[in-house]
Amino acid sequence: MREWFAHPLTIIGAGYGAYMRLDDSEDQAAFRAGLKAWLAEQLPEATPSAPRAWSADELRAWSKALHAAGYAGLTWPAAHGGRGLSPSYQAIYAEESALAEAPDHAGVIGLGMVGPAIVHYGTDAQKAEHLPRILSGETIFCQGFSEPDAGSDLASVRTRARRVEGGYVVDGEKVWSSYAHLADHCLLLARTDPDAAKHRGLTCFLLDMRAPGVEVRPLRQLSGDTDFNQILLSGVEIPDHCVLGEPGQGWRVALTTLAHERGTFGITLTARLSVQLDRLVKTAKACGADPRVRAEIAELYVDLQGLRFTGYRALAAMERTGEPGPESSILKLRWSQANQRVSALALRLLGAGAAADGTDAFWGGYWQHQRLRSRANSIEGGTSEILRGIVAERVLGLPKSR
Ligand SMILES: Cc1cc2nc3c(=O)[nH]c(=O)nc-3n(C[C@H](O)[C@H](O)[C@H](O)COP(=O)(O)OP(=O)(O)OC[C@H]3O[C@@H](n4cnc5c(N)ncnc54)[C@H](O)[C@@H]3O)c2cc1C
Repeated sequence: MREWFAHPLTIIGAGYGAYMRLDDSEDQAAFRAGLKAWLAEQLPEATPSAPRAWSADELRAWSKALHAAGYAGLTWPAAHGGRGLSPSYQAIYAEESALAEAPDHAGVIGLGMVGPAIVHYGTDAQKAEHLPRILSGETIFCQGFSEPDAGSDLASVRTRARRVEGGYVVDGEKVWSSYAHLADHCLLLARTDPDAAKHRGLTCFLLDMRAPGVEVRPLRQLSGDTDFNQILLSGVEIPDHCVLGEPGQGWRVALTTLAHERGTFGITLTARLSVQLDRLVKTAKACGADPRVRAEIAELYVDLQGLRFTGYRALAAMERTGEPGPESSILKLRWSQANQRVSALALRLLGAGAAADGTDAFWGGYWQHQRLRSRANSIEGGTSEILRGIVAERVLGLPKSR
């Protein structure tokens, strides 16, 4: 099942006449082969039935190894320590690392979102301070955008940054901030001008998480994990040199960051879904599957194919225009539904065994955990309702709802 992914991605021609060859160019094939060999060497025990958990220290060591081997920052400019490659190489990396069941780089937010924003808007000093350390995994960033009353409507951010001599003093509350409990820095979105129009009065900061007045409170998720956090900010002093972009330009910086999040993530999600479906098939073989379940698994397989080609379409659009298009919303929406269905179906396959816990449970409770964790898939990174709105307006051209 997994070899479906081993053949993307050459864009031929330009503009709307461009089309995509669904096999690797010579360079891409060489890159893929080198990466596969490296992953096999680094992860000799890859592809267990149920994935292993990685500790924070192991993740940092993994990030260091990725960096040393040249696999961190593939699309970053070479001048900033990256490889300057096109997004199709990042897609190949996403596919192969998912298939090898490799963990993420410890700094997914820094590497995929904040780093590119610093490349775009950062001063020379900010680039020198943060970029090499993001690549090597020494600096972990979190993203401090959402607030209790500013999630989907992000421009409603109320965390206030008051101008003082030499910088700002920040008070407020951020919520759902992934990895904040591990983070060294936070890309913080705060309101610097309460009198300006909603989107105009915002500024982005590179906040040192060890600054006095920063308190991180882990939030326990439905799955029992504590991957995201509340961040309380009380009289936190941020010097001027930590402003990313110009004061008042925070909305643009935030949009750039979010665009990078959407970049190749459709391909990453699809590759991961193929691994999940593979595990579902293994589970069905182990537990037995009646005709209805077999039909549902086949349907999921068909959905996966649709996602895969939509992913390549999104990639082609991005290679052409340099920006992710609305296809990424379609991908995220359908991926979250499919991923939730996979774990729901797995629990149905387990039958009464779905109620077992710990070592008594199939694969140590892997599917139970996946089922609970996947609930967040239709919320994180844009809720399904918001994504449907984007598809309605930007893909179908329907009138705005309000
Ligand atoms: C696992 C996880 C990790 C996260 N990590 C981060 C992070 O690292 N950093 C960060 O800043 N945030 C993070 N978030 C927050 C995430 O971005 C928000 O949860 C998301 O944007 C939704 O915002 P909200 O939770 O405030 O819900 P709300 O925006 O309050 O939405 C509540 C409900 O109303 C619906 N709704 C809202 N507006 C509309 C509309 N215009 N049309 C139709 N329906 C609408 C929503 O779809 C939803 O069902 C994370 C969330 C999760 C679940």
